[in-house]
Amino acid sequence: MINLVLFGPPGSGKGTQSVKLQEKYQLMHVSTGDLFRMHMRENTDLGKEAKSYIEKGDLVPDEVTIGMMNAKIESHPEAKGFIFDGFPRTAAQAEALDALLNSKNTPVSKMIALNVPDEELIKRLLLRGKDSGRADDQNEEIIANRIQVYNDKTLPVASYYEKQAKLVEIHGLGSIDDIFNRLCAVIDTLA
Ligand code: AMP
Repeated sequence: MINLVLFGPPGSGKGTQSVKLQEKYQLMHVSTGDLFRMHMRENTDLGKEAKSYIEKGDLVPDEVTIGMMNAKIESHPEAKGFIFDGFPRTAAQAEALDALLNSKNTPVSKMIALNVPDEELIKRLLLRGKDSGRADDQNEEIIANRIQVYNDKTLPVASYYEKQAKLVEIHGLGSIDDIFNRLCAVIDTLA
């Protein structure tokens, strides 16, 4: 079983690459951002709560996020492995993920971090905002806050996995296929 944490700032290509990786390695792609947006579309209580944070570019509280993620993992016992996209984003989330996966004897295999400079992130997010309709991709102030939140609260999660010797960093610029090939080169060492 391969469990990957795909890590990187907003706009680093985690979602795009996850879709390709899911297909190639038959892993289940779980994106907390996508799950929150689904709850928002369906106007669930969780969606209503998440909306107030997402529209500012802040993180949804850990207990809500962890509860949603645990339920998602538990509901897919048939999965051959997971690609976690946009999770964990805090140290508490990383600890909760480890606790759940270790209890199933299926620990995180690797965290792969996509390194992309801030100027490129802003450019990509504004471009995506034109098509995606995502309000949080259309406003430069919200984008700046998301990058700030990433630097303050999420970057420490990389050190958490580095201490477990599970962090691999890759260059996140280039064509989608170039980046995909770099990811596959790392994943193929795990099989
Ligand atoms: P994303 O689609 O990953 O860019 O996430 C969109 C927004 O959803 C983020 O800006 C956060 O407000 C929220 N979000 C997604 N994943 C998490 C997470 N793991 N913890 C807290 N908030 C999250």
